[in-house]
Amino acid sequence: MHKHCISESAQTYHFEFILDDLETFPFIPGQFISAVAEDRTGKEQTRAYSLASAPSGNRFDLCLNRVEGGFFSNRLADLPDVPVGGAVRVYGPNGFFTLRAPITDSLLVATGTGVAPMRGFLQWLFPVDGPDRSEGKEIWLVYGTRFASELYYREEFEAIAARHSNFHYLPTLSREAEDWPGLRGYVQDYVTRIVEERATRLGQPLPALPVDPGVPPAQLRFDINAYICGLNDMINAVRERLKGFGWHRRQIIFERYD
Ligand SMILES: Cc1cc2nc3c(=O)[nH]c(=O)nc-3n(C[C@H](O)[C@H](O)[C@H](O)COP(=O)(O)OP(=O)(O)OC[C@H]3O[C@@H](n4cnc5c(N)ncnc54)[C@H](O)[C@@H]3O)c2cc1C
Repeated sequence: MHKHCISESAQTYHFEFILDDLETFPFIPGQFISAVAEDRTGKEQTRAYSLASAPSGNRFDLCLNRVEGGFFSNRLADLPDVPVGGAVRVYGPNGFFTLRAPITDSLLVATGTGVAPMRGFLQWLFPVDGPDRSEGKEIWLVYGTRFASELYYREEFEAIAARHSNFHYLPTLSREAEDWPGLRGYVQDYVTRIVEERATRLGQPLPALPVDPGVPPAQLRFDINAYICGLNDMINAVRERLKGFGWHRRQIIFERYD
């Protein structure tokens, strides 16, 4: 296991694990693992952590921050940066926060460590050493944090945006100093802007026309989906905006951390 701090102010850590006893660790980008450990009273505690990478042999990455007074996040953040076989038991992969097929235009919306599964999606869509899987669809990452120092994986996302004109990286900060030249404020405001501009560009009505209730759910097809990850309040705010545009609930895929 290799660990390093990627934000001192938010106490956020990036972890790279290697599962020595497995040749491969297959999972779908966006899924999570369940970590298990005993607390001081001997009670087993389980917490979910999103896989912050795309599948790659027997490796996976995590991204997590310390939660004040929290049990598991601090335990992981305090792990020494050396191989620690057996110190953390993990189960998985689990979960359905995964890219829907076929790939559509996609809004990836995250705050804080909610960016972890987005990194997995983006590594899979735009691999450095393999064919592009985005099929030319427009992919936006709208990423909200307080300060620029908390924009995790910024260089990686900027590098993808530089290589692929259909990937748009929109970091927005809520508390950065005046000299920040980029976006400010809430992710939902930029989501709104993207949806409105896209509808205008494509000549589509907003709110979108309601889905025919006669179409069986398995046959529903959309030309855009949103994937939202982070704390509940942000997820609800983004969902409300998208529902206001007439989006169908199956177009709004989300993962709550709290
Ligand atoms: C599917 C899923 C995937 C997740 N993936 C990640 C991930 O990739 N990275 C990551 O950092 N976390 C992730 N989480 C959150 C993680 O599982 C834990 O909840 C978090 O690490 C806190 O655990 P803890 O034991 O330290 O705190 P606890 O001892 O469980 O809680 C301490 C206090 O903190 C509050 N709290 C709990 N979680 C949070 C939070 N995330 N932010 C602020 N306050 C909180 C609790 O309400 C409680 O009051 C995920 C959660 C789910 C359900």
